[in-house]
Amino acid sequence: MYDEFLITIIGGGVVGLAIAAELSQYYHNVLLVEKNDTFGLETSSRNSEVIHAGIHYPPHFLKTILCVTGKYLLYELCEQKGIPYNKMGKLIVATSDEEEEHLQKLKDEAAEKGVGDLVLLTQKEIKLREPGVKGKAALFSPSTGIIDSHKLMRFFLSQAEERGAIVSFRSEVTGIERRNSNYLVEINKGEYRFFSRIVVNSSGLQADRIAAFTGLDVNKLGLRIRYCKGNYFSLSGMRRFNHLIYPVAKGEKEGLGIHVTIDLGGRVRLGPDVEYVDSIDYAVDERKKGHFYQAVKVFLPEIKIDHLNPDMSGIRPKLYGPGEKVRDFVIRDEKENGYPGFINLVGIESPGLTSCMAIGKYVASIVNEILN
Ligand SMILES: Cc1cc2nc3c(=O)[nH]c(=O)nc-3n(C[C@H](O)[C@H](O)[C@H](O)COP(=O)(O)OP(=O)(O)OC[C@H]3O[C@@H](n4cnc5c(N)ncnc54)[C@H](O)[C@@H]3O)c2cc1C
Repeated sequence: MYDEFLITIIGGGVVGLAIAAELSQYYHNVLLVEKNDTFGLETSSRNSEVIHAGIHYPPHFLKTILCVTGKYLLYELCEQKGIPYNKMGKLIVATSDEEEEHLQKLKDEAAEKGVGDLVLLTQKEIKLREPGVKGKAALFSPSTGIIDSHKLMRFFLSQAEERGAIVSFRSEVTGIERRNSNYLVEINKGEYRFFSRIVVNSSGLQADRIAAFTGLDVNKLGLRIRYCKGNYFSLSGMRRFNHLIYPVAKGEKEGLGIHVTIDLGGRVRLGPDVEYVDSIDYAVDERKKGHFYQAVKVFLPEIKIDHLNPDMSGIRPKLYGPGEKVRDFVIRDEKENGYPGFINLVGIESPGLTSCMAIGKYVASIVNEILN
């Protein structure tokens, strides 16, 4: 006889944990399995920790809708539960006439997506806010901030456990088989097997592999993940920044562009860049230093190449390759493809951290539909 769970969540990153906290509020018998020794050791601890405003994605995308909603939910949670954050705002700095013209377009488009608080700044106003930044004009986003993602994940973990969810580390899902109206889930190559009515695949960089365990044809369904590395260089010896500083994004090839990120401890980093890779290797190549320096010199005129040192990297689980059309998050019950009750979350790249609570609520609505 196998144990039976109502809902199994695969993956203890920020998204899986937020889903566990949300679902355990409504359902008993919720299990979260994570292959590592503890939570959040992968993409969720290798990112910029920015609470995004929701400016940069197409309006109808889940990425936009869940980011804009998720941002409000996160700020409210941080306020109520004492999770450290800083709504420091960000500047998107234009350094050419062409970029300056683009700022107004960005502002208008953002307003249509529910981000109506952007403010255009003149050269003088930039200097007042950021004496070390050079630009012709800038957009100020007051609702962009930073968060302590580790404390956030720890909070979701405690909340899920308090609400009755079971969280099991060192538990790698190695097989999933559909059996009647359940899934038989195998852990650590057969060490343990159990039935689950619903399986939520929130396994980040492994999400395509886990989906394929069921028999889903991930290539045909366009669910194959491409690894896209983002490298960071730390920046020291410069004056203090008061905001996150971004260039005007030049298109998907360069993501949001190499920018200035700040963590809650005041550490400043440049990054992330965009590098498609074939395997997971977090080492940062020091030879990229020159490229990083050139990318920011135009808006940080005081920077010297010696201010940069290789820091960390993270890997985005992208659903598209270089030059291909931007894709949205995939979050759905796979009933149309023959696997009802198997909820896939694939391609949860940025703004996944910002969206995590909204994703939790979205998944809860899918679960509710399945069970009622
Ligand atoms: C460079 C970079 C910068 C970013 N910056 C931001 C930002 O500033 N703001 C923002 O909103 N978003 C940002 N993101 C995106 C954000 O980090 C991710 O969207 C988010 O962390 C995804 O969380 P997750 O839980 O889906 O994935 P993960 O954190 O990868 O968690 C998945 C978990 O699943 C587990 N797992 C995998 N396979 C198995 C298995 N077989 N069995 C059991 N467990 C398994 C893994 O061990 C892992 O712990 C950034 C991403 C990158 C790479």
